[in-house]
Amino acid sequence: MYPFPKIGILGGGQLGKMMAISVADWHLSLSFLDQSKDFPAGIFTHSFTEGNFKEYDDVYNFGKNMDVLSIEIEHVNTEALRALEKEGKIIHPAPDKLELIKDKGRQKLFYQDHNIPTSSFQLRASKNDILKGLEDNSIAYPFVQKTRTAGYDGKGVAVIKGIKDLDKLMDAPSVIEDLVKIEKELAVIVARRPSGEVKAYPVVEMEFNPVANLVEFLLCPAQIEEDTAAEATRLAIEVAEKMDICGLLAVEQFLTKDGKILINEVAPRPHNSGHHTIDSCYTSQFEQHIRAILDMPLGSTKLKSKGIMINLLGEPGHTGPAYYDGLDDCMAMEGVYVHIYGKATTKPYRKMGHVTVIGEDVREMKQKAKIVSDTLKVITL
Ligand code: ADP
Repeated sequence: MYPFPKIGILGGGQLGKMMAISVADWHLSLSFLDQSKDFPAGIFTHSFTEGNFKEYDDVYNFGKNMDVLSIEIEHVNTEALRALEKEGKIIHPAPDKLELIKDKGRQKLFYQDHNIPTSSFQLRASKNDILKGLEDNSIAYPFVQKTRTAGYDGKGVAVIKGIKDLDKLMDAPSVIEDLVKIEKELAVIVARRPSGEVKAYPVVEMEFNPVANLVEFLLCPAQIEEDTAAEATRLAIEVAEKMDICGLLAVEQFLTKDGKILINEVAPRPHNSGHHTIDSCYTSQFEQHIRAILDMPLGSTKLKSKGIMINLLGEPGHTGPAYYDGLDDCMAMEGVYVHIYGKATTKPYRKMGHVTVIGEDVREMKQKAKIVSDTLKVITL
């Protein structure tokens, strides 16, 4: 595969930046489309096109100069990708897969139709339709409302436990899911290439910030029974194969209190739950994504060491130019790797970077992770 084809990525945020860095060793330069060259991927490429990945013309004009296209965000203009696909461009994930995944309703129907375990659900057209369901008892408390489209990082998700939560209901076409009794939230990242090779990364477990509903802390390998890990991995691969995804598929799952695994949702790209792979695995998820979309041999997904990943979120109460307080203290710690995304301004809970702690002793690693969370703060001066 040399010379490499021209690869265009829709989105130039932190995932794009980490993709660009991951293939720099091969002297491969990726091209990006996003609104501003000042975005995280901007200084890691000489080919950054300023434009809107949701606009047909911007995507089409960018894509026509590329050989292979991929994404770092699902919410892109798929009509333009379809036109480019017809013209022979290689696009992973394929536009029809993006359309399936972007709609949480269609995603749930896919799991149902393909006998993939997922929480019970129904589709509702609007807030009124949900209220009607509560009146005629076709919806019962407690439940989770998810807007079918445009949700991201917990936005567009409301947990409705009773009448007192009804003011949280959103007025949009929605998935109404049973509230699952969750023991642990897990994720498995699967890589699959067009010629069929599939590899999965070890299972990770996620801990959430209850206020922001964002992953705060992630541990790999998940502290779960071996057969649970095997089942989580088997199911993740099954989803990637049944969806016929090429590239990465991050498969978010719930391990229920009664020991079952349910698929929650998927993302067809590098994912927050795979950031630790940069420092703790033989092949990072970012390099793996590029290998997979180019149909190159997949790299080993084995761990070199255990990993904890901590999201570096903008400190509540701080909005403006970002300042990284406590950075030197973290840099001084062994096995601690700081990743700053380079976003110019911080705001409460914005993903500004992440830190990986590697090691062999989970207890020690958790202690270090706690020191990092307590020390490193993204603030404004
Ligand atoms: P997003 O796409 O915004 O990340 P998710 O579907 O991952 O939305 O939901 C966000 C979080 O809400 C999950 O990580 C989980 O903590 C919680 N959640 C989602 N669905 C359910 C459910 N059916 N039962 C219990 N908790 C849920």
